[in-house]
This record gives sequence, structure tokens and C-alpha cells, in this order.
Amino acid sequence: MLLFIFAYIWLKFNNPISDVNSTISTILFFAHIGIVFGFGITFLAILTSYTVSLEKKIEKQSTTDRLTNIPNRNGLNDYFVRIGESKDNYMIAIFDIDNFKKFNDKNGHLCGDYVLKEIARIASENSKDDFVSRWGGEEFVVIAKIDESIEKTISKIDRIRETIENYEFNYDNKKLKSTVTIGVAEYDNYASIDDWIKTADEKLYQGKHNGKNKTVS
Ligand code: GH3
Ligand code: MG
Ligand code: MG
Repeated sequence: MLLFIFAYIWLKFNNPISDVNSTISTILFFAHIGIVFGFGITFLAILTSYTVSLEKKIEKQSTTDRLTNIPNRNGLNDYFVRIGESKDNYMIAIFDIDNFKKFNDKNGHLCGDYVLKEIARIASENSKDDFVSRWGGEEFVVIAKIDESIEKTISKIDRIRETIENYEFNYDNKKLKSTVTIGVAEYDNYASIDDWIKTADEKLYQGKHNGKNKTVS
């Protein structure tokens, strides 16, 4: 830019243009090309990085639950694809908050939202190496890698249930309690993801019919 201003002023006082020394004219020519390319490349680089970051943001938004800020069902589906490509064994755990309709009716929907956020936080904090997502409504899905034994993985999942049971929720100066029932199932390589979810769902159903606040495998 400075070069152009300089050239413009210089030409104003040094007419005609044919008087411009050929070395200066060559320098100006290449400087012109350099500046145009420089601006073009910088503009393209900024545009590309902006587009990439926008794409990442949209991708994150479409796979994240807005209330709890954990992955939503889209995020879980992406994770299922990753599991399909892995050789490790996994367990699925479906969490369903007990009597949540009554809880909302008694304490209000906003208080219910607060409990959903807290349960998502507790589950995430207790499953640092596992995948925690909101399945929808008041249900969550945890995918845990079976590192040692199935029993140890189930105990790890049950510890989340226990933590929630012992946790004192504090909303609007009110101390509240909540529990979850969990159905777990080990992934059977011959089954589809839908069958895997169905098995865990059936276990969850059993837990609901047998008193709630338990982990059924
Ligand atoms: P159960 O122990 O058998 O699971 O009973 P439940 O009352 O939890 O089950 P039900 O399916 O009858 O009710 C689920 C309730 O979850 C109803 C709905 O209002 C509440 N819910 C679902 N999504 C949200 C949400 O985003 N925020 C709040 N506050 N409540 C929600
Ligand atoms: Mg439910
Ligand atoms: Mg429920």
C-alpha cells in the first residue's frame, strides 16, 4: 500500500511516465504483483480458517444437547460408528430418572431442568474414560469400555447410580433427592446396535418394575 502511495506521489511530480527509470518500473511491477498475491493469499487463508471453524461449530452444535451440554443422540450415533470400527468390548447403560414426572409436577420444570443438568454432570464426572450422552427426555446413555471384567464395569456404572442416590440437589434453597434406574447390556458382536439398545432397555424395564433405583444387568 505504502509503495503504491509512494509511486502515485512520485509519478505526480515526475511526469511523463516514460521518464521512470526502468529499474524502478521493474521493482514497482514486481511489488505490485507481490502485493496483489499477498492480499489474495491472506484473504483466502482467513476465509478458509473461518469456514473450517464455522463447520466445526455447526458439527459440535448438532451433536451436543443444549440443556446439559453433553453429546445428544446424534453424538451417540457418531460414537456407535467409532465403536463399530474398534476391537474393544463395550457395555451400554441406559439411565432413566425415577418418577421424574412427579418431580417436575412438585418442584417445577425449571427445577427438573436443573436436576437433568446435575445428573449429566455427575455421570460425566464419574465416567471420565467413558462416553456419556443424553438419549432424550430424562434418559441418558453411557457407553463403557470393558477394561477388566464385565462385573467391574457394571460396578463402575452402579457407582454413578449410588452417587446420584446420595447426592443432595440444591435448588432455590430447597434440598432435593433423586434416583435413577439403569439397564446394562454387554455388546454381542453378532447383534445390531438396535438389538444392543433393546436388551439394555429391557433390563431398565425390569429395574423399574422391581422397585427402581437399581442397576439391572
Ligand atoms: P419412571 O420412574 O417410570 O421413569 O417415571 P417417570 O415419571 O420418570 O416417567 P415418565 O416417562 O412418565 O415421565 C418422564 C418425565 O420426564 C415427563 C417429562 O415432563 C420429563 N422430562 C422430559 N424431558 C424433560 C426436560 O427436558 N426437562 C424437564 N424438566 N423434564 C423433562
Ligand atoms: Mg423415561
Ligand atoms: Mg423416568
